[in-house]
Amino acid sequence: MAEVKNYDLVIVGAGMAGIIAAARIAEKGINPRTGDRLRIALIEAGPHIYTGKFRSGYGDPVHRRLAPQVLWEEFANVPKWPWPFGLKVVGGCSVHWGAHCHVPFDEDYENWCALGNDWTRENMKEAVEDVVEMFNLRADPEEAYTPGEKLFRETAQSMGYKVQPVLSPRKNCIYCGFHNEGHACKYDAKSNSVWYLPIALENGVELIHDAEVKKVIIEKAGAGGVVKGVVYQKNGETNEARAENVMVACGSWGTPVLLAKSGYGPKDELGAALIVENANVGHNLDGDTSSKVSVMFSQPIKEAGRGTNGSICFLVHDGNYKDGTGTLRISTAEMSYINYPHIMAMSEFAPAFGKAHTDFMRRVTTQHGAITVLFNRPPTHIKGRVDLKTGAHIYPGDPYIDKRMQEGKEITIELLKKMGAEKISNRFPATFKGRGGGHTNGTCRAGSDRANSVINQNFESHEVKGLFVVDASSYPRASINSGSFAAIMGAFGARRIVANHFSRGAS
Ligand SMILES: Cc1cc2nc3c(=O)[nH]c(=O)nc-3n(C[C@H](O)[C@H](O)[C@H](O)COP(=O)(O)OP(=O)(O)OC[C@H]3O[C@@H](n4cnc5c(N)ncnc54)[C@H](O)[C@@H]3O)c2cc1C
Repeated sequence: MAEVKNYDLVIVGAGMAGIIAAARIAEKGINPRTGDRLRIALIEAGPHIYTGKFRSGYGDPVHRRLAPQVLWEEFANVPKWPWPFGLKVVGGCSVHWGAHCHVPFDEDYENWCALGNDWTRENMKEAVEDVVEMFNLRADPEEAYTPGEKLFRETAQSMGYKVQPVLSPRKNCIYCGFHNEGHACKYDAKSNSVWYLPIALENGVELIHDAEVKKVIIEKAGAGGVVKGVVYQKNGETNEARAENVMVACGSWGTPVLLAKSGYGPKDELGAALIVENANVGHNLDGDTSSKVSVMFSQPIKEAGRGTNGSICFLVHDGNYKDGTGTLRISTAEMSYINYPHIMAMSEFAPAFGKAHTDFMRRVTTQHGAITVLFNRPPTHIKGRVDLKTGAHIYPGDPYIDKRMQEGKEITIELLKKMGAEKISNRFPATFKGRGGGHTNGTCRAGSDRANSVINQNFESHEVKGLFVVDASSYPRASINSGSFAAIMGAFGARRIVANHFSRGAS
């Protein structure tokens, strides 16, 4: 063992939730026995932007170091996990997310409470406000919307739908056209969890980057277990960080994989490696199913040199589910930002060559658009699971998803025709079996009963003392998208853990 160090708390994974939790625990928590500042290690497998392995931002010299520039097109060249879109970097998926957000709806609180959690709007208020303020999460001003989005709104309203903004996390935006989706924001305006990192570092958190945690050390204790720390590798050396408290914040794929490697999970999947059993580790995978309908207009629907905003949407509820679930979200996606010419040259609408291709390229960046159909199923419907060896998601899909997605497509096509579209794509998939599960969650979900959950409402493992899970895997479902919900888990989990473990008189 190259190095062995002691901490009060080790946090594994400096992604969306991990950094936020580290910042708030370090800021507000104390050692309950001595009253001293907590010794916290935040261990992340990927590099930190300070190491120069990622391009930094362009804006203010200090702020630019908190804004890695990652283009979706460049995924092939950056350190990744084997699971879908898993970037290894301080900031996790928050540094390359599309940044289309919602704060929890009434039905989210209802669904979380249905599993026996006291996660009410009132109890989570402070944590939600923390993220809303830090990410500056709000609707964009009216002048940010493009002609295409205004047309979408008027047409949808004329069809009887209630249009609402998708929230946009940004500060000091110059509306240059490259904020949401997979663009590298030109003015570091796109919020990400690294914005919390200075709070963590100022309050003594030790960030250990480029260091993959190989296992959480769990010792058997009675019918359950107890945490002793983690083993991690950095620069080819194996090190140990000892602690009585370990928070795993490796995301909805990474967290169950690490817990399984540590001997915690379903008996039938872990076999001889099992130390402590919980049948729900890696199960109950939930997330949205989405697809786009591409479209060409004969007039510009967006302006070169400006945009993009967080987009607008309307929700179509399935009346059979009175709790508001079974919801479709129909939103403007590529109606709000300029399409890159090199991508559009290969689009389904692009003539192959000649004058027709040249004419198409003249107009496509401002006349092409797409509408996203996104669906989240009711909590009672079939869920997926994570392959605990590879992190791959196993997502069976179900006929109800296919049915609702086709309904979403039909509404979208009707809308686009009313908007006066010139050409509408017919490439919408007929089935989504095996495909869904974007913006994933639930794979170590919270609940009052270990028969259907991994952690309790205070983010504590049901069976392993000193083990916490705080990330997208913690919450049992989201009605729409999950990045901002993962951030809220970081802020809320931190408050619960401080109250129960790191304040004067806590056990
Ligand atoms: C391409 C893309 C676009 C998205 N767009 C949106 C969007 O528009 N709106 C929205 O709301 N959400 C969006 N999301 C979802 C959102 O980014 C995630 O829900 C959110 O980041 C999840 O946060 P997390 O903390 O659970 O995990 P992550 O942010 O993934 O963080 C996990 C961290 O743990 C680290 N880690 C994992 N295993 C280990 C280990 N063994 N040792 C050390 N470190 C480890 C990882 O490297 C990573 O940094 C998008 C996601 C992707 C991939």
